[in-house]
Amino acid sequence: MDRRTFLKSAGVGAAATALAAPNVWAKPKTHRWRMVTTWPPGLPFYQVGSGSAEWMAKRIGEMSGGRLKIRVYAAKELIPAFGGFDAVSKGTVEMNHGVAYYWAGKTFAAQYFGTIPFGMNPAGANGWYYEGGGIPLWEETYKDFGLVPMPCGNSGIQMTGWFNKEINSVNDLKGLKMRIPGLAGKVLAAQGVNVILLPGGEIFPALERGVIDAAEWVGPYQDRRLGLYQAAKYYYHSGWHEPSTTSELIINKKAWDSLEKDLQAIVRAAATEANLRSTSWAEANNAGALDDMIRNKGVKLRLLPKDVIEKLRVTTAEVLAEANKDPQSRKVYASYQRFQDNWREWAGISEGTYHEYIRGKK
Ligand code: CA
Repeated sequence: MDRRTFLKSAGVGAAATALAAPNVWAKPKTHRWRMVTTWPPGLPFYQVGSGSAEWMAKRIGEMSGGRLKIRVYAAKELIPAFGGFDAVSKGTVEMNHGVAYYWAGKTFAAQYFGTIPFGMNPAGANGWYYEGGGIPLWEETYKDFGLVPMPCGNSGIQMTGWFNKEINSVNDLKGLKMRIPGLAGKVLAAQGVNVILLPGGEIFPALERGVIDAAEWVGPYQDRRLGLYQAAKYYYHSGWHEPSTTSELIINKKAWDSLEKDLQAIVRAAATEANLRSTSWAEANNAGALDDMIRNKGVKLRLLPKDVIEKLRVTTAEVLAEANKDPQSRKVYASYQRFQDNWREWAGISEGTYHEYIRGKK
């Protein structure tokens, strides 16, 4: 019996029509959004793969049953790499995937939502974002720009970088030409380093030709992909300058407000899931890449001497104290520092001690 025959024979045709009046079964609204990113097309971790921008967009589509469809554009496909903040603020596109420290020129406090030298590792940073007041402060910082921000990924602790000679003292840093961005660049400049800013794609040729003597990029997997081990052999750890770099999703406020509440919850859930999945990806892939470079590619792993790290730590505190010129930066920095001061000891007692235990048997 087909549907028409059934309705006719059951005499419910009129009743069904009457019931349809409130139209509770109407097709739900479909939102079609665009997400731009600061990343080159195909870049693992950031643009494609577990926890990336494209992964998150697909996840939101699945979780919403297709009610929120997001098309992702890599850098330069729609707008320049660093045009996302303005484009989302103006509503040209609905979303951007990047890192908050790229927007330090728009509002300096953005630094603290990306990473800062001698700041917290991913576990500590997530503690601050989700449970320590970080996200509300982030929202407050971006409010006047009409943006809703949230964390959506984390690179894990980065590597200090590649050097063409060993660093045995602070003096060895003097006159070194190094690619390193942000506040850490200011800290190194204070030690006499000639700081040079280069996009990812230009690091290898510059290092290989001796235009620079040293460079930092991300971590073992991403650095191997750029071939940096072919241009410098000394690979220093650990990433004092980027102890956990958080990826950021920003959403146009008007577009956000137009979403049904369940879709807003789905976006937040997908971003939080992407944060977990990207950190997991980094944990799963960096160890093997580092091992491969040490065993098969002649890479020499080195640790910065204690007095060098101490000098960088003291200079970082000076640079940060000087950097916070506006009230919002001071407020965010104070919140971050308060959280870190509490967390630091606990992290040392728990994780720090435990790492000593499990590495002691090597
Ligand atoms: Ca980096």
